[in-house]
Amino acid sequence: QLKETVRKFRWLLEEKEMTLEMDLEEVRFTGDPAFLEKVWENLLSNALKYTEIGGAIEVVLTEQPDHVTVLIQDNGIGIDEEGLERIFDRFYRADDSRTQETGGTGLGLSIVMQVVKLHGGTINAVSRKGQGTTFTVMFPKL
Ligand code: ATP
Ligand code: MG
Repeated sequence: QLKETVRKFRWLLEEKEMTLEMDLEEVRFTGDPAFLEKVWENLLSNALKYTEIGGAIEVVLTEQPDHVTVLIQDNGIGIDEEGLERIFDRFYRADDSRTQETGGTGLGLSIVMQVVKLHGGTINAVSRKGQGTTFTVMFPKL
C-alpha cells in the first residue's frame, strides 16, 4: 500500500533529480486503504514540494510488537518553530511556502492528522529551518 504510493512518486522524484532512500519491509496493519493513501500522498508530496532539486527523501518503515512506525524525512527548506506549531492547522501554509511557486491549499496536513487520529495513531514533526523535516507517523496494529 505505502509501497504503491511511493512507486507513484518515483517519476516525480526523477524529474527533480532527487534520491529516495527506502527501506520497506512488508508490514500490515488494519486501516482504511483510501484514507491511508491520503496520508502517504500528502506527506510524500510535501517532502517533494518543499525540497530543492537534487534533495533527498527517506522513507523508513519499522514494526514493533504493537505498532508500526513510518518515518518520512527530507532535507528540504524546513519549517521554523512558529510554523511547526501550526502546520497541522487547516489552511496554514508557512511564509516561504506561500512565496514559492509551489501550489497548495494548506489542507493536506490537517487531513493527514484527522486520518491518523481516526486510526488511533499519532504523528509528529521535527524540523530545522533550512535543513529538513522529519514526520513520524505511528499506527497501532489493531
Ligand atoms: P496541500 O497539501 O493542501 O496541497 P500544503 O502542502 O501547503 O497544501 P500542508 O500539507 O497542510 O499544506 O502543509 C502545511 C504547511 O506546512 C506547508 O504549506 C508548508 O509550509 C509546511 N510543510 C509541510 N511539510 C513540509 C516539509 N516537508 N518541509 C517544509 N515545510 C513543510
Ligand atoms: Mg501538502
